[in-house]
Amino acid sequence: MNEETLLSIVVPCYNEEAVLPETFKELSEQLRKLKINDKIDKSSFIVFVDDGSTDRTWALIREKAETDAFIQGVKLSRNFGHQHALIAGMETVSNQADCVITIDADLQDDIRAIHALIDKYHEGFDVVYGVRKRRNQDSFFKRNSALAFYKLMAKMGVKLVPNHADFRLLSRRAMQEFKRYQEENVFIRGIIPLLGFRSAKVYYDRRKRYAGTSKYPLKKMFAFAADGITSFSIVPIKLVMNIGFFFVLIGTGIAAYALINWLLGHTISGWTSLILSIWLIGGMQLIAIGVIGEYIGKIFTETKKRPRYTIEITTWNKNK
Ligand code: UDP
Ligand code: MG
Repeated sequence: MNEETLLSIVVPCYNEEAVLPETFKELSEQLRKLKINDKIDKSSFIVFVDDGSTDRTWALIREKAETDAFIQGVKLSRNFGHQHALIAGMETVSNQADCVITIDADLQDDIRAIHALIDKYHEGFDVVYGVRKRRNQDSFFKRNSALAFYKLMAKMGVKLVPNHADFRLLSRRAMQEFKRYQEENVFIRGIIPLLGFRSAKVYYDRRKRYAGTSKYPLKKMFAFAADGITSFSIVPIKLVMNIGFFFVLIGTGIAAYALINWLLGHTISGWTSLILSIWLIGGMQLIAIGVIGEYIGKIFTETKKRPRYTIEITTWNKNK
């Protein structure tokens, strides 16, 4: 009854040669099961997006696409980053597919949950979030930093689905709407709730990376979080201003105190307080400039309106 639903699964890959053969196997197996159960159209397919890998990732994808009619590949001309690779994949399929599921290549997200995502789609939800039940496979640090991040974002008025990353289903109209968000500094999981469509959650257990190493080292993770905050909220700029006012208030207090002492004939021998103030205020100013700079940098990149990705070749147009 649901067999008209053409599903496309989009998988971003960056240097994933170690895990890809297993990912091909498990994803194709799931796709086959869904087709047998008449949950999706027989021509549903998987697209692997090679995000400028330097290893054999593209060679593996191309080889697989030649033998398996339901596997396609898109090769980006360089490394554009996880979020852009996802967008490249979604935009490529958005006119063919009725719904798209995005999933990481490393098999951390439970492939069996795809069934549940599709069921929710058939119930009429346009957006279905894959949510990690427990994060006990992640390190203590990653778990807690993620928790702090969700709290911080909530404080700043950004709606995020906690413990949801980029494992989700979007209907065609959700995809079309998403395409209208043309920002360069894109934080997909912050935008999807803004679409406003009816959404559901599917819980799953997050596993360890099947093979290979994380492409999100600490530095990249913090940059990603900072991007998430500054592209959705201007609370940090306001905060800096408020702290500035607070410091001016303290400064006024100190000035009044010094004036009174001077009137009373005491001289203040305050090297310590002086040097401390210089450093504290100097530091505050640098932070403030940094925060403002971060936003100006965003404006700078946004005004250029550069394309967010470039496709070098796809397996649909092999000869080009
Ligand atoms: N990825 C990508 N481009 C990048 C970095 C990562 O396409 O520049 C892909 C990567 O191959 C994987 C997914 O994004 O499929 C998530 O990356 P990873 O598993 O390394 O992140 P983690 O799970 O450690 O947060
Ligand atoms: Mg991973």
